[in-house]
Amino acid sequence: MQQIRDAILAGDTSKGDFAALEVPESYQAITIHKDEEDMFAGMSSRDKDPRKSLHFDEVAVPELGPGEAIVAVMASAINYNTVWTSIFEPLSTFSFLERYGKLSPLTKRHDLPYHVVGSDLSGVVLRTGPGVTAWKPGDEVVAHCLSVELESPFGHNDTMLDPEQRIWGFETNFGGLAELALVKSNQLMDKPKHLTWEEAACPGLVNSTAYRQLVSKNGAGMKQGDNVLIWGASGGLGSYATQYALNGGATPICIVSSPEKAEICRKMGAELIIDRAAEDYKFWKDENTQDPKEWLRFGKKIRELTQGEDIDIVYEHPGRETFGASVFVARKGGTIVTCASTSGYMHEYDNRYLWMNLKKIQGSHFANYRESYEANRLVDKGMIHPTLSKTFSLEETGDAALEVHQNRHQGKVGVLCLAPEEGLGVRDTEKRAKFETQINRFRNV
Ligand code: NAP
Repeated sequence: MQQIRDAILAGDTSKGDFAALEVPESYQAITIHKDEEDMFAGMSSRDKDPRKSLHFDEVAVPELGPGEAIVAVMASAINYNTVWTSIFEPLSTFSFLERYGKLSPLTKRHDLPYHVVGSDLSGVVLRTGPGVTAWKPGDEVVAHCLSVELESPFGHNDTMLDPEQRIWGFETNFGGLAELALVKSNQLMDKPKHLTWEEAACPGLVNSTAYRQLVSKNGAGMKQGDNVLIWGASGGLGSYATQYALNGGATPICIVSSPEKAEICRKMGAELIIDRAAEDYKFWKDENTQDPKEWLRFGKKIRELTQGEDIDIVYEHPGRETFGASVFVARKGGTIVTCASTSGYMHEYDNRYLWMNLKKIQGSHFANYRESYEANRLVDKGMIHPTLSKTFSLEETGDAALEVHQNRHQGKVGVLCLAPEEGLGVRDTEKRAKFETQINRFRNV
Protein backbone atom coordinates (compact mmCIF):
# COMPACT_ATOMS: atom_id res chain seq x y z
CA MET A 1 0.00 0.00 0.00
CA GLN A 2 2.97 2.28 0.70
CA GLN A 3 3.98 2.13 -2.98
CA ILE A 4 0.51 3.22 -4.04
CA ARG A 5 0.49 6.04 -1.52
CA ASP A 6 3.97 7.20 -2.62
CA ALA A 7 2.99 7.14 -6.29
CA ILE A 8 -0.03 9.35 -5.56
CA LEU A 9 1.84 11.72 -3.26
CA ALA A 10 4.61 12.19 -5.86
CA GLY A 11 1.99 13.96 -7.97
CA ASP A 12 3.83 13.28 -11.26
CA THR A 13 3.55 9.49 -11.58
CA SER A 14 2.67 8.54 -15.15
CA LYS A 15 -0.53 6.69 -16.06
CA GLY A 16 1.59 3.78 -17.22
CA ASP A 17 3.33 3.59 -13.86
CA PHE A 18 -0.04 3.54 -12.11
CA ALA A 19 -1.20 0.69 -14.33
CA ALA A 20 1.94 -1.24 -13.39
CA LEU A 21 1.45 -0.80 -9.63
CA GLU A 22 0.58 -4.02 -7.87
CA VAL A 23 -2.79 -4.06 -6.12
CA PRO A 24 -2.31 -5.77 -2.74
CA GLU A 25 -4.41 -8.76 -1.69
CA SER A 26 -5.83 -7.04 1.38
CA TYR A 27 -6.43 -3.53 2.70
CA GLN A 28 -7.47 -1.69 5.87
CA ALA A 29 -11.10 -0.69 6.13
CA ILE A 30 -13.84 0.41 8.50
CA THR A 31 -16.35 -2.40 8.91
CA ILE A 32 -19.30 -3.55 10.91
CA HIS A 33 -19.64 -7.25 11.77
CA LYS A 34 -22.66 -9.40 11.06
CA ASP A 35 -22.36 -11.31 14.34
CA GLU A 36 -22.78 -8.00 16.20
CA GLU A 37 -25.98 -6.78 14.58
CA ASP A 38 -27.92 -7.26 17.83
CA MET A 39 -25.32 -5.61 20.05
CA PHE A 40 -27.48 -2.53 20.79
CA ALA A 41 -30.80 -4.36 21.19
CA GLY A 42 -33.11 -2.59 23.61
CA MET A 43 -31.05 0.62 23.80
CA SER A 44 -32.32 4.04 22.77
CA SER A 45 -30.83 5.39 19.50
CA ARG A 46 -29.07 8.14 21.42
CA ASP A 47 -27.17 5.66 23.58
CA LYS A 48 -25.93 3.49 20.71
CA ASP A 49 -22.22 4.24 20.32
CA PRO A 50 -20.72 3.93 16.79
CA ARG A 51 -17.26 3.50 18.37
CA LYS A 52 -18.36 0.08 19.61
CA SER A 53 -19.65 -1.24 16.28
CA LEU A 54 -17.24 0.32 13.75
CA HIS A 55 -14.07 -1.76 13.44
CA PHE A 56 -10.71 -1.06 11.81
CA ASP A 57 -10.01 -4.34 9.97
CA GLU A 58 -7.77 -5.88 7.33
CA VAL A 59 -10.05 -7.26 4.59
CA ALA A 60 -9.53 -9.01 1.23
CA VAL A 61 -9.54 -6.96 -1.97
CA PRO A 62 -12.65 -8.01 -3.93
CA GLU A 63 -12.39 -9.44 -7.42
CA LEU A 64 -12.84 -6.72 -10.07
CA GLY A 65 -15.88 -7.20 -12.31
CA PRO A 66 -17.03 -5.75 -15.65
CA GLY A 67 -17.77 -2.03 -15.56
CA GLU A 68 -16.05 -1.59 -12.21
CA ALA A 69 -12.96 0.15 -10.86
CA ILE A 70 -10.70 -0.23 -7.86
CA VAL A 71 -9.79 3.15 -6.43
CA ALA A 72 -6.99 4.01 -3.99
CA VAL A 73 -8.89 6.12 -1.46
CA MET A 74 -7.04 9.22 -0.24
CA ALA A 75 -9.94 10.58 1.82
CA SER A 76 -13.57 9.94 2.64
CA ALA A 77 -16.24 11.57 4.80
CA ILE A 78 -18.85 10.72 7.39
CA ASN A 79 -22.39 10.62 6.16
CA TYR A 80 -25.42 10.06 8.30
CA ASN A 81 -25.89 6.71 6.55
CA THR A 82 -22.71 5.49 8.29
CA VAL A 83 -24.30 6.53 11.59
CA TRP A 84 -27.42 4.53 10.67
CA THR A 85 -25.26 1.54 9.66
CA SER A 86 -23.23 1.68 12.86
CA ILE A 87 -26.30 1.68 15.11
CA PHE A 88 -28.09 -0.95 12.94
CA GLU A 89 -31.09 1.36 12.40
CA PRO A 90 -33.70 1.37 11.02
CA LEU A 91 -32.46 -2.12 10.13
CA SER A 92 -29.16 -3.94 9.79
CA THR A 93 -27.41 -3.19 6.48
CA PHE A 94 -26.56 -6.91 6.23
CA SER A 95 -30.14 -7.38 5.01
CA PHE A 96 -29.27 -5.10 2.04
CA LEU A 97 -26.10 -7.06 1.31
CA GLU A 98 -27.91 -10.40 1.47
CA ARG A 99 -30.59 -9.20 -0.95
CA TYR A 100 -27.99 -7.73 -3.32
CA GLY A 101 -25.99 -10.96 -3.15
CA LYS A 102 -28.92 -12.90 -4.56
CA LEU A 103 -29.00 -10.90 -7.81
CA SER A 104 -26.07 -12.49 -9.67
CA PRO A 105 -22.83 -14.38 -9.14
CA LEU A 106 -21.04 -11.01 -9.36
CA THR A 107 -23.13 -9.30 -6.71
CA LYS A 108 -22.69 -12.35 -4.45
CA ARG A 109 -19.25 -10.86 -3.63
CA HIS A 110 -21.03 -8.21 -1.53
CA ASP A 111 -22.72 -10.67 0.82
CA LEU A 112 -20.04 -11.10 3.48
CA PRO A 113 -20.01 -11.35 7.28
CA TYR A 114 -18.51 -7.84 7.34
CA HIS A 115 -19.62 -4.62 5.67
CA VAL A 116 -17.04 -2.06 4.52
CA VAL A 117 -18.94 1.20 4.93
CA GLY A 118 -18.68 4.72 3.54
CA SER A 119 -20.34 6.52 0.61
CA ASP A 120 -17.79 9.20 -0.31
CA LEU A 121 -14.25 9.14 -1.65
CA SER A 122 -11.54 11.07 -3.38
CA GLY A 123 -8.62 9.12 -4.76
CA VAL A 124 -6.89 7.60 -7.75
CA VAL A 125 -8.06 4.85 -10.11
CA LEU A 126 -5.81 1.78 -9.80
CA ARG A 127 -7.55 -0.81 -11.98
CA THR A 128 -10.57 -0.88 -14.27
CA GLY A 129 -12.64 -3.92 -15.21
CA PRO A 130 -13.63 -5.17 -18.67
CA GLY A 131 -15.70 -2.69 -20.66
CA VAL A 132 -14.45 0.44 -18.89
CA THR A 133 -13.05 2.95 -21.39
CA ALA A 134 -13.79 6.35 -19.82
CA TRP A 135 -11.39 5.95 -16.88
CA LYS A 136 -7.77 4.82 -16.62
CA PRO A 137 -5.33 3.95 -13.85
CA GLY A 138 -3.85 7.21 -12.54
CA ASP A 139 -7.03 9.30 -12.99
CA GLU A 140 -7.72 11.49 -9.95
CA VAL A 141 -11.37 11.12 -9.11
CA VAL A 142 -14.24 11.56 -6.70
CA ALA A 143 -17.16 9.13 -6.61
CA HIS A 144 -20.87 9.64 -6.20
CA CYS A 145 -22.71 6.85 -4.42
CA LEU A 146 -25.39 5.76 -6.90
CA SER A 147 -25.08 2.08 -7.79
CA VAL A 148 -27.46 0.85 -10.50
CA GLU A 149 -27.73 -2.25 -12.69
CA LEU A 150 -29.87 -0.61 -15.46
CA GLU A 151 -31.08 -3.91 -16.91
CA SER A 152 -34.71 -2.87 -16.45
CA PRO A 153 -36.40 -0.24 -18.69
CA PHE A 154 -37.62 1.68 -15.66
CA GLY A 155 -34.32 3.30 -14.79
CA HIS A 156 -33.50 4.69 -18.18
CA ASN A 157 -35.19 8.12 -17.90
CA ASP A 158 -33.92 8.73 -14.40
CA THR A 159 -31.41 6.22 -13.04
CA MET A 160 -32.71 6.78 -9.50
CA LEU A 161 -35.81 4.88 -10.66
CA ASP A 162 -33.86 1.71 -11.52
CA PRO A 163 -35.46 -1.15 -9.51
CA GLU A 164 -31.91 -2.22 -8.57
CA GLN A 165 -30.85 1.24 -7.36
CA ARG A 166 -28.58 1.15 -4.30
CA ILE A 167 -26.41 3.49 -2.27
CA TRP A 168 -22.80 2.35 -2.53
CA GLY A 169 -21.15 1.72 0.86
CA PHE A 170 -24.56 1.54 2.55
CA GLU A 171 -26.60 -0.93 0.51
CA THR A 172 -23.48 -2.40 -1.15
CA ASN A 173 -20.15 -3.52 0.26
CA PHE A 174 -16.58 -2.20 -0.34
CA GLY A 175 -17.35 1.44 0.54
CA GLY A 176 -15.13 4.48 0.83
CA LEU A 177 -14.03 4.46 4.49
CA ALA A 178 -11.01 2.35 3.57
CA GLU A 179 -7.67 2.36 1.80
CA LEU A 180 -9.24 0.89 -1.35
CA ALA A 181 -12.78 0.87 -2.71
CA LEU A 182 -14.71 -0.98 -5.37
CA VAL A 183 -17.06 1.22 -7.40
CA LYS A 184 -18.96 1.03 -10.66
CA SER A 185 -17.05 3.14 -13.18
CA ASN A 186 -20.18 5.25 -13.78
CA GLN A 187 -19.83 6.51 -10.21
CA LEU A 188 -16.59 8.28 -11.06
CA MET A 189 -16.19 12.00 -11.69
CA ASP A 190 -13.11 14.20 -12.07
CA LYS A 191 -11.69 15.47 -8.80
CA PRO A 192 -11.82 19.28 -8.66
CA LYS A 193 -8.16 20.26 -9.02
CA HIS A 194 -8.23 23.19 -6.57
CA LEU A 195 -9.25 21.03 -3.60
CA THR A 196 -7.30 18.89 -1.16
CA TRP A 197 -8.14 15.20 -0.99
CA GLU A 198 -10.27 15.66 2.14
CA GLU A 199 -12.11 18.69 0.76
CA ALA A 200 -12.82 16.90 -2.52
CA ALA A 201 -14.15 13.82 -0.71
CA CYS A 202 -16.70 15.58 1.46
CA PRO A 203 -19.35 17.01 -0.91
CA GLY A 204 -20.17 13.83 -2.94
CA LEU A 205 -23.23 12.39 -1.22
CA VAL A 206 -24.78 15.48 0.35
CA ASN A 207 -24.02 17.88 -2.49
CA SER A 208 -25.62 15.59 -5.08
CA THR A 209 -28.61 15.00 -2.79
CA ALA A 210 -29.12 18.72 -2.18
CA TYR A 211 -28.84 19.43 -5.93
CA ARG A 212 -31.59 16.97 -6.83
CA GLN A 213 -33.78 17.79 -3.84
CA LEU A 214 -33.72 21.55 -4.27
CA VAL A 215 -32.58 22.46 -7.78
CA SER A 216 -33.41 19.59 -10.15
CA LYS A 217 -36.81 19.30 -11.81
CA ASN A 218 -36.91 15.85 -10.20
CA GLY A 219 -36.95 17.63 -6.83
CA ALA A 220 -38.38 21.04 -5.88
CA GLY A 221 -37.15 22.81 -9.05
CA MET A 222 -36.16 25.96 -7.14
CA LYS A 223 -36.28 29.23 -9.06
CA GLN A 224 -34.92 32.74 -8.57
CA GLY A 225 -36.66 34.64 -5.81
CA ASP A 226 -38.00 31.58 -3.99
CA ASN A 227 -38.02 31.65 -0.20
CA VAL A 228 -36.43 28.36 0.88
CA LEU A 229 -36.73 27.21 4.49
CA ILE A 230 -33.72 25.01 5.25
CA TRP A 231 -33.68 22.79 8.31
CA GLY A 232 -30.18 22.06 9.67
CA ALA A 233 -28.77 24.79 7.44
CA SER A 234 -25.18 24.36 8.67
CA GLY A 235 -25.29 20.54 8.65
CA GLY A 236 -24.32 18.07 5.95
CA LEU A 237 -27.23 18.54 3.55
CA GLY A 238 -28.24 22.00 4.73
CA SER A 239 -24.83 23.56 4.13
CA TYR A 240 -25.17 22.68 0.43
CA ALA A 241 -28.88 23.55 0.22
CA THR A 242 -28.05 27.00 1.63
CA GLN A 243 -25.35 27.48 -1.02
CA TYR A 244 -27.72 26.35 -3.79
CA ALA A 245 -30.38 28.79 -2.64
CA LEU A 246 -27.90 31.69 -2.60
CA ASN A 247 -26.25 30.60 -5.84
CA GLY A 248 -29.61 30.31 -7.61
CA GLY A 249 -31.00 33.69 -6.61
CA ALA A 250 -33.34 32.36 -3.94
CA THR A 251 -33.53 33.46 -0.30
CA PRO A 252 -32.58 30.84 2.27
CA ILE A 253 -34.26 31.01 5.66
CA CYS A 254 -31.75 29.03 7.69
CA ILE A 255 -32.76 27.03 10.76
CA VAL A 256 -29.94 26.17 13.17
CA SER A 257 -29.54 25.35 16.85
CA SER A 258 -26.69 27.54 18.12
CA PRO A 259 -25.10 30.98 17.62
CA GLU A 260 -21.98 29.26 16.15
CA LYS A 261 -24.09 27.53 13.51
CA ALA A 262 -25.88 30.82 12.80
CA GLU A 263 -22.48 32.44 12.26
CA ILE A 264 -21.55 29.77 9.70
CA CYS A 265 -24.74 30.52 7.75
CA ARG A 266 -23.86 34.21 7.80
CA LYS A 267 -20.40 33.39 6.47
CA MET A 268 -22.06 31.54 3.58
CA GLY A 269 -23.99 34.74 2.82
CA ALA A 270 -27.36 33.95 4.39
CA GLU A 271 -29.11 36.80 6.21
CA LEU A 272 -32.35 35.26 7.47
CA ILE A 273 -31.54 32.84 10.28
CA ILE A 274 -33.59 31.31 13.08
CA ASP A 275 -31.94 29.67 16.09
CA ARG A 276 -34.51 26.96 16.92
CA ALA A 277 -32.86 26.34 20.32
CA ALA A 278 -32.98 30.01 21.33
CA GLU A 279 -36.61 30.27 20.17
CA ASP A 280 -37.33 27.00 22.02
CA TYR A 281 -39.96 25.70 19.61
CA LYS A 282 -41.94 22.81 21.03
CA PHE A 283 -43.90 21.45 18.07
CA TRP A 284 -44.92 18.41 20.16
CA LYS A 285 -46.69 18.79 23.52
CA ASP A 286 -45.99 15.14 24.21
CA GLU A 287 -44.96 12.09 22.18
CA ASN A 288 -48.33 11.91 20.41
CA THR A 289 -49.70 15.45 20.33
CA GLN A 290 -48.52 18.38 18.26
CA ASP A 291 -49.06 22.01 19.19
CA PRO A 292 -50.40 24.08 16.24
CA LYS A 293 -49.82 27.25 18.31
CA GLU A 294 -46.09 26.54 18.02
CA TRP A 295 -46.42 26.14 14.23
CA LEU A 296 -48.09 29.56 14.24
CA ARG A 297 -45.32 31.09 16.37
CA PHE A 298 -42.74 29.62 13.97
CA GLY A 299 -44.67 30.98 10.95
CA LYS A 300 -44.83 34.45 12.53
CA LYS A 301 -41.07 34.46 13.06
CA ILE A 302 -40.54 33.52 9.42
CA ARG A 303 -42.84 36.31 8.21
CA GLU A 304 -40.99 38.77 10.47
CA LEU A 305 -37.77 37.89 8.66
CA THR A 306 -39.24 37.79 5.13
CA GLN A 307 -41.27 41.02 5.41
CA GLY A 308 -44.50 39.04 5.43
CA GLU A 309 -43.73 36.52 2.67
CA ASP A 310 -44.27 32.79 3.05
CA ILE A 311 -42.10 29.83 2.17
CA ASP A 312 -42.02 28.51 -1.41
CA ILE A 313 -39.94 25.42 -0.61
CA VAL A 314 -39.34 23.68 2.69
CA TYR A 315 -36.13 21.64 2.61
CA GLU A 316 -37.09 18.76 4.92
CA HIS A 317 -35.07 15.97 6.50
CA PRO A 318 -35.56 16.04 10.32
CA GLY A 319 -38.91 14.30 9.75
CA ARG A 320 -41.41 13.55 12.50
CA GLU A 321 -40.36 16.36 14.83
CA THR A 322 -40.64 19.15 12.26
CA PHE A 323 -42.89 17.86 9.47
CA GLY A 324 -46.16 19.24 10.85
CA ALA A 325 -44.58 22.69 11.13
CA SER A 326 -43.04 22.36 7.66
CA VAL A 327 -46.40 21.64 6.02
CA PHE A 328 -47.99 24.52 7.95
CA VAL A 329 -45.45 27.22 7.00
CA ALA A 330 -45.25 26.43 3.25
CA ARG A 331 -47.14 29.03 1.20
CA LYS A 332 -50.28 28.31 -0.80
CA GLY A 333 -49.07 26.10 -3.67
CA GLY A 334 -45.68 25.64 -1.98
CA THR A 335 -43.59 22.47 -1.86
CA ILE A 336 -42.27 20.44 1.05
CA VAL A 337 -39.42 18.37 -0.36
CA THR A 338 -38.20 15.56 1.87
CA CYS A 339 -35.29 13.14 1.72
CA ALA A 340 -35.14 11.80 5.26
CA SER A 341 -36.68 11.37 8.68
CA THR A 342 -33.85 11.67 11.20
CA SER A 343 -36.20 12.16 14.17
CA GLY A 344 -38.73 9.50 13.10
CA TYR A 345 -40.33 8.35 9.85
CA MET A 346 -43.98 8.20 10.90
CA HIS A 347 -44.84 11.80 10.03
CA GLU A 348 -47.99 13.55 11.16
CA TYR A 349 -49.36 16.79 9.73
CA ASP A 350 -52.72 18.54 9.45
CA ASN A 351 -53.88 17.62 5.95
CA ARG A 352 -56.31 20.55 5.82
CA TYR A 353 -53.35 22.91 5.40
CA LEU A 354 -52.08 20.76 2.55
CA TRP A 355 -55.20 20.26 0.45
CA MET A 356 -56.95 23.58 1.09
CA ASN A 357 -53.76 25.43 0.20
CA LEU A 358 -52.76 23.21 -2.73
CA LYS A 359 -49.36 22.39 -1.27
CA LYS A 360 -47.21 19.52 -2.52
CA ILE A 361 -45.08 16.98 -0.70
CA GLN A 362 -42.23 15.79 -2.93
CA GLY A 363 -40.04 12.80 -2.09
CA SER A 364 -36.40 12.94 -3.08
CA HIS A 365 -33.55 10.47 -2.73
CA PHE A 366 -29.86 10.86 -3.61
CA ALA A 367 -29.35 11.84 -7.29
CA ASN A 368 -28.81 10.32 -10.70
CA TYR A 369 -25.40 10.36 -12.41
CA ARG A 370 -26.23 13.50 -14.39
CA GLU A 371 -27.40 15.37 -11.28
CA SER A 372 -24.30 14.24 -9.36
CA TYR A 373 -22.15 15.35 -12.29
CA GLU A 374 -23.84 18.78 -12.36
CA ALA A 375 -23.35 19.14 -8.60
CA ASN A 376 -19.66 18.18 -8.87
CA ARG A 377 -19.24 20.53 -11.85
CA LEU A 378 -20.44 23.44 -9.70
CA VAL A 379 -17.84 22.54 -7.06
CA ASP A 380 -15.22 22.38 -9.81
CA LYS A 381 -16.27 25.83 -11.06
CA GLY A 382 -15.99 27.31 -7.57
CA MET A 383 -19.72 28.11 -7.40
CA ILE A 384 -20.40 25.60 -4.60
CA HIS A 385 -17.73 24.94 -1.97
CA PRO A 386 -16.89 22.05 0.34
CA THR A 387 -18.11 22.53 3.90
CA LEU A 388 -15.40 20.54 5.67
CA SER A 389 -15.01 21.51 9.33
CA LYS A 390 -12.73 18.83 10.74
CA THR A 391 -10.90 15.62 9.77
CA PHE A 392 -10.17 12.37 11.57
CA SER A 393 -7.81 9.51 10.73
CA LEU A 394 -9.28 6.27 9.38
CA GLU A 395 -8.70 4.55 12.75
CA GLU A 396 -10.72 7.32 14.43
CA THR A 397 -13.80 6.87 12.23
CA GLY A 398 -15.86 5.73 15.24
CA ASP A 399 -15.18 9.05 17.01
CA ALA A 400 -16.04 10.94 13.85
CA ALA A 401 -19.35 9.07 13.48
CA LEU A 402 -20.16 9.73 17.15
CA GLU A 403 -19.75 13.50 16.61
CA VAL A 404 -22.26 13.38 13.76
CA HIS A 405 -24.60 11.09 15.73
CA GLN A 406 -24.57 13.57 18.62
CA ASN A 407 -24.99 16.60 16.32
CA ARG A 408 -21.73 18.12 17.63
CA HIS A 409 -20.35 18.77 14.13
CA GLN A 410 -20.68 21.54 11.55
CA GLY A 411 -20.95 20.93 7.81
CA LYS A 412 -18.98 17.83 6.90
CA VAL A 413 -16.57 15.71 8.91
CA GLY A 414 -13.74 14.26 6.80
CA VAL A 415 -11.67 11.11 7.17
CA LEU A 416 -8.09 10.72 5.91
CA CYS A 417 -7.57 7.28 4.37
CA LEU A 418 -4.29 6.95 2.41
CA ALA A 419 -3.60 10.69 2.69
CA PRO A 420 -1.04 10.96 5.54
CA GLU A 421 -2.08 14.49 6.48
CA GLU A 422 -4.46 17.29 5.55
CA GLY A 423 -3.74 19.81 2.83
CA LEU A 424 -2.43 17.50 0.07
CA GLY A 425 -3.73 16.93 -3.45
CA VAL A 426 -4.20 20.51 -4.70
CA ARG A 427 -3.20 20.50 -8.40
CA ASP A 428 -4.32 24.04 -9.34
CA THR A 429 -2.93 26.52 -6.82
CA GLU A 430 -4.05 29.60 -8.72
CA LYS A 431 -7.68 28.51 -8.72
CA ARG A 432 -7.41 27.52 -5.09
CA ALA A 433 -6.11 30.96 -4.08
CA LYS A 434 -9.24 32.47 -5.63
CA PHE A 435 -11.59 30.42 -3.43
CA GLU A 436 -9.48 29.89 -0.27
CA THR A 437 -11.75 31.99 1.99
CA GLN A 438 -14.96 30.27 0.89
CA ILE A 439 -13.41 26.80 1.22
CA ASN A 440 -12.37 27.52 4.81
CA ARG A 441 -15.68 28.97 6.06
CA PHE A 442 -16.47 25.91 8.16
CA ARG A 443 -13.02 25.66 9.77
CA ASN A 444 -12.29 26.77 13.35
CA VAL A 445 -15.81 27.84 14.23
P1 NAP B 1 -26.32 16.26 9.63
O1 NAP B 1 -24.98 16.68 9.11
O2 NAP B 1 -26.40 15.64 10.98
O3 NAP B 1 -27.24 17.55 9.59
C1 NAP B 1 -28.59 17.53 9.94
C2 NAP B 1 -28.97 18.78 10.71
O4 NAP B 1 -30.37 18.75 10.91
C3 NAP B 1 -28.35 18.84 12.09
O5 NAP B 1 -27.10 19.48 12.05
C4 NAP B 1 -29.37 19.66 12.87
O6 NAP B 1 -29.04 21.05 12.74
C5 NAP B 1 -30.68 19.42 12.13
N1 NAP B 1 -31.55 18.56 12.92
C6 NAP B 1 -31.29 17.33 13.41
N2 NAP B 1 -32.32 16.86 14.13
C7 NAP B 1 -33.27 17.84 14.08
C8 NAP B 1 -34.57 17.97 14.63
N3 NAP B 1 -35.11 17.01 15.38
N4 NAP B 1 -35.25 19.11 14.40
C9 NAP B 1 -34.72 20.11 13.65
N5 NAP B 1 -33.48 20.03 13.11
C10 NAP B 1 -32.78 18.92 13.32
O7 NAP B 1 -26.99 15.22 8.65
P2 NAP B 1 -27.20 15.31 7.07
O8 NAP B 1 -26.04 14.73 6.38
O9 NAP B 1 -27.64 16.67 6.72
O10 NAP B 1 -28.41 14.28 6.92
C11 NAP B 1 -29.67 14.57 7.49
C12 NAP B 1 -30.61 13.40 7.26
O11 NAP B 1 -30.78 13.21 5.86
C13 NAP B 1 -30.12 12.06 7.80
O12 NAP B 1 -31.20 11.33 8.31
C14 NAP B 1 -29.55 11.36 6.57
O13 NAP B 1 -29.55 9.95 6.67
C15 NAP B 1 -30.50 11.86 5.50
N6 NAP B 1 -29.95 11.88 4.15
C16 NAP B 1 -30.71 11.35 3.15
C17 NAP B 1 -30.23 11.35 1.86
C18 NAP B 1 -31.02 10.76 0.76
O14 NAP B 1 -30.50 10.64 -0.35
N7 NAP B 1 -32.24 10.34 0.94
C19 NAP B 1 -28.98 11.92 1.58
C20 NAP B 1 -28.26 12.51 2.62
C21 NAP B 1 -28.76 12.47 3.90
P3 NAP B 1 -29.33 22.09 13.93
O15 NAP B 1 -29.11 21.35 15.22
O16 NAP B 1 -28.36 23.18 13.70
O17 NAP B 1 -30.74 22.56 13.76
